[in-house]
Amino acid sequence: MAPMQVYYATQFVLPLPPGHRFPMGKYQLLRDRLAAEVPDVQLMQALPASDGELALAHTLAYIQGIADGTVDPVILREIGFPWSPAMAERARRSVGATIAACRVAFAEGLAANIAGGTHHAMADRGGGFCVFNDAAVATRLMQAEHGRRGRSLRVAIVDLDVHQGNGTARIFRDDPTVFTLSMHGQKNFPFRKESGDLDVDLPDGCGDDEYLEALDTALGDLERRFDPGLVIYLAGADPHEGDRLGRLKLTWDGLEARDRRVFDWAAQRGLPLAFAMAGGYGHRMEDTVQAQVNTFRVAAGYWRHWQNRRR
Ligand SMILES: [Zn+2]
Repeated sequence: MAPMQVYYATQFVLPLPPGHRFPMGKYQLLRDRLAAEVPDVQLMQALPASDGELALAHTLAYIQGIADGTVDPVILREIGFPWSPAMAERARRSVGATIAACRVAFAEGLAANIAGGTHHAMADRGGGFCVFNDAAVATRLMQAEHGRRGRSLRVAIVDLDVHQGNGTARIFRDDPTVFTLSMHGQKNFPFRKESGDLDVDLPDGCGDDEYLEALDTALGDLERRFDPGLVIYLAGADPHEGDRLGRLKLTWDGLEARDRRVFDWAAQRGLPLAFAMAGGYGHRMEDTVQAQVNTFRVAAGYWRHWQNRRR
């Protein structure tokens, strides 16, 4: 049995000035730990998304501005990364990784991107460490690929990063074929939230029980209102209690139960699911990576379940 496909772009390291608060090292740590500890995972290098693919969710002016570094400095400040050719390439590869994970998910049930989940990016600008919106581009591309075969595709984006998926909500605001669910800290970034299809605001200090109850309610609500053919899951590690930016208090067990809820929900309905890592800013980077390794361990179990079902 071939293992679960996991796409990466970690060889494209975004050069950051010393002391920058973005934990770039977590991607390589995650990749190393997956290779060493999760045997059912096959790490694959992602291809970059093309201009045409990015243009499914972004304006040509913005794509060009990121490609050649002429993007408005105000936008760059909002993104929070200095521009470099490596920054532009990495952003493209990260979108490519989510695209690849979606394609494989249709065939195998479950696949992942060990980066991505860059949900603050809007059509014409990035923000909050997000350059391009991988889930948005992948959603539109999967819909286009289905459309060429005369089929329609409805996509549910389940965003459990602790920050609101404001870019995703905005991009799909008037699109009834995409359902955007975001569960996030009410008092957390972004401070001006967009309206998605289902937004769940959580109070500071929210713990496991309250969170899981809200998640059950949200998934039930999604199901009553929408009938997806693909799920894209943003498995942010930042609701963990050890996160610097999260403001919530989920334990290790709570985060694992969260992941199981989502994978269970998709598996029981036979829905292909692609997931991306999204945010994680642990006081200890090892904790963020641990949370993400845990997500992959749980995912690998569901992946095996899918393969057994298909035989
Ligand atoms: Zn986040």
